[in-house]
Amino acid sequence: MSWPYIANRVWCWPVLCAFLFAVALAVAGHPASISAAEPKRKDNAAVANDARLGGDLSRTRFVADLSDAVDFRAFTLSDPYRVIIDLPEVKFLMPSGIGANGKGLVSAFRFGLFAPGKSRIVIDVVEPVLIDKAFVRKAENGLPARLVVDLVRTSREEFEKQRQRQSTVQGLSPGRFATQTEKLGKSPPDAASRKDKSLIVLDPGHGGVDPGAIGSGGHYEKNVVFAFCQMLKAKLEATGQYKVLMTREEDIFIPLAVRVDRARGEQADLLISVHADALDLKHPLLGGKFAQDVRGASVYTLSEEASDDLAKAIAARENRSDVLAGVELAGASDNDLASILIDLMHRETKNLSVSFAKHLLANLKGKVELTGKPHRFANFKVLKAQEVPSVLLELGYLSHAEDERALTSEEWRSKVTEAIVDSISAFFAKRHVSAPG
Ligand code: ZN
Repeated sequence: MSWPYIANRVWCWPVLCAFLFAVALAVAGHPASISAAEPKRKDNAAVANDARLGGDLSRTRFVADLSDAVDFRAFTLSDPYRVIIDLPEVKFLMPSGIGANGKGLVSAFRFGLFAPGKSRIVIDVVEPVLIDKAFVRKAENGLPARLVVDLVRTSREEFEKQRQRQSTVQGLSPGRFATQTEKLGKSPPDAASRKDKSLIVLDPGHGGVDPGAIGSGGHYEKNVVFAFCQMLKAKLEATGQYKVLMTREEDIFIPLAVRVDRARGEQADLLISVHADALDLKHPLLGGKFAQDVRGASVYTLSEEASDDLAKAIAARENRSDVLAGVELAGASDNDLASILIDLMHRETKNLSVSFAKHLLANLKGKVELTGKPHRFANFKVLKAQEVPSVLLELGYLSHAEDERALTSEEWRSKVTEAIVDSISAFFAKRHVSAPG
């Protein structure tokens, strides 16, 4: 039995260690304006407080420092090539910006909560790799416990063999999220208790292992939009007119299909997906001077054809959430989404989505910076809840310093959430007046 085979199956043994100095440092460096967005997790979870890469293009080692040794499972995914490390719930208090740059076979890595009680590290690799060794070393000689994963370059054929062994060993069927979709998405609508209230689903983008865009000042999109949605939810509920659900209540990864199913399953009257983009300043087409100057909010509605190149690029990036988190695209839930032809969407739903986008922009105008063409269209997966009017609001660009400052300030959030509450009441007032019988 070869090493890689063992490595893919192995679950290592827990040992004990304390290593809290870096934790204190990481906590001290956290931006205060967004801290409310990060709910408290299990107190006894192990802490991962640093990670590093070593080696070259033939062999690369990934090491993460841990407060305690933990069980783990490591496996690979293709299209694109990734190495996934699944862990029990771990508190990540890593230095800011870590994982953005790679070394050797690794181009980048990210980490976070993947599902309740389950954390994940996703390592992007530039070539097909084999997991040569994977183990947890217990704390010793003043060093913390360490998770070590050794990757070696391999051929596409060997990589595929490894993948097949994994599927057999771990039962990793491509559609393994279907169960979760069912569990979260098919809860019976609580229609009786909200007869007099419209149900609004707020969808804070990204979460957990998928941080979303990262601002020039280091703010994570997932935290910025979560704080925003929490405030919006409180304000909507305070009107007494709406029931509000959030697609995530904490810093956790939720597949796009589960977000859509949630809105459909609950028979929501409106879905607002909230994001904050950042342009890649090095992008050949959309980067450079152009990217530095792009700022302001935009509202997107669903369309097969994108309204412009920027809208197309943004939809492509937002749709990559599942890939970034290590979910296989061949999953059943994803196919469900792909099979929904936009033409088949109810015309009424489309019209209502556009109508709400207009109300939203009318209320945001003058209160926030808007992009030159603030209503755009593109093929966003998260807007495909067929019967639910849906818009995606990009609050601004974290790549623009002024936008990043605004989006992370309480004052700006307060102003913008108020404008959204106004646009929602205008939208429903008009719907109720024009609704037949
Ligand atoms: Zn986003």
